[in-house]
Amino acid sequence: MTDRTRILLGAIADDMTGATDLALMLAKGGMRTVQVIGPENIGLAGDADAVVVAMKSRSNPADEAVAMSLQAADALLHAGAQQLLFKYCSTFDSTDRGNIGPVADALLERTGAPIAIACPAFPATGRTLYQGHLFVNGRLLNESGMQNHPLNPMTDPDLVRVLSRQSAHKVGLVPLDVVRSGPDAIAARLASLIVNGCRLAIVDAVEDEDLRRIGETLRGAALITGGSGIALGLPDNFRASGDLAVSGGAEAVTGSGRAAILSGSCSVATNEQVARAKAAGIPAFRITPAEIADPAETAREAMAWAADQDPGHPVLIYATDSPENVEAVQARLGREQAGALVEQSFGHVARGMAHDGYGTIVVAGGETSGAVIQALGVGALRIGPEIAPGVPWTTAIGDRPLALALKSGNFGGPDFFRDALAMLDG
Ligand code: ADP
Repeated sequence: MTDRTRILLGAIADDMTGATDLALMLAKGGMRTVQVIGPENIGLAGDADAVVVAMKSRSNPADEAVAMSLQAADALLHAGAQQLLFKYCSTFDSTDRGNIGPVADALLERTGAPIAIACPAFPATGRTLYQGHLFVNGRLLNESGMQNHPLNPMTDPDLVRVLSRQSAHKVGLVPLDVVRSGPDAIAARLASLIVNGCRLAIVDAVEDEDLRRIGETLRGAALITGGSGIALGLPDNFRASGDLAVSGGAEAVTGSGRAAILSGSCSVATNEQVARAKAAGIPAFRITPAEIADPAETAREAMAWAADQDPGHPVLIYATDSPENVEAVQARLGREQAGALVEQSFGHVARGMAHDGYGTIVVAGGETSGAVIQALGVGALRIGPEIAPGVPWTTAIGDRPLALALKSGNFGGPDFFRDALAMLDG
């Protein structure tokens, strides 16, 4: 491998779990990948091949999303990123007022790229694109349930139309027959779209092989936009150029110190995972929102309980509950207040665990993960091996080693917690 200090791929992800999904895809493709929490932490990425900046911009007003994305782009370019990838949801979550078009426009401007593809296809998760139309598990986007999304209802499956309404530029299409004709045909089509005044191009893809063909065309492109799936074909380009080791991939994660599972998700999958962990004899402490007078005090009780358990075994601290109980407590406290009390409690627990030398923490719940990361002051995560689709082990980059697994809602099989802990070295 050539000597270098440059980031090969710099990605800007519009939400936290999407960032992890992408980071895992790149790690599985053989790139040493670090996910940083906000652009201010890019300095923590060290000698990573790929850096994914996790932001929370998907549902922000467009001008805010643009400003945040440009800040991330500038930081990545400053750190030497050869190629930028703007990552959004594989269901193209956005409204006619933003954010994918405005952010893509701003990044085109910043990078000077003549054109950027827009490809949210991710066949492994049922997202396919044909004639510019997005399908979710075989259903058109606007009949997939996404038409009822609370923040970004998707009522038009034609992404050329959708993106045209958001972007100041003309949007073209690279249809599947061109994609199937291979990288040269795709490149020729993009060149003719540029001549016709297009700066963005929706690109069809129905299977992984399509994404690989598209990926090969993107060698050297300054800007790419898409879902996690588009990352499938990118690492090979850097191997072909000699910038990336031929073999490699996710780095081993070592668990040290005591282990804990913190579960604040109330999803169906997490309820089952918690039930299994308790049935398997993992000592468990329950946090009940209605009984939280002071989150710091609740956390102290949980930590005192944990201190009495066998330090050689993991402990489970959970607020996970059935839909009926969650509804009842939300009716009493309000949805926000109930959630905030639980999240703050987990934040205090996480700080207590860092103080008490826990070295391995599994967190269930997207918002809960955010609260734990913030409480721990974690700025960057080195991506390790995959536990379940979309969920890697990570090593928090900081003063002392901390193995973290962050699982959003419905991810992972019934024995996720056991499987996760069984995977660790050390
Ligand atoms: P998921 O990824 O499954 O959506 P999140 O952590 O993002 O999980 O969201 C779960 C929300 O529910 C959090 O705000 C959490 O604090 C809250 N919560 C957890 N347990 C309870 C409970 N027993 N009652 C009410 N709210 C809860």
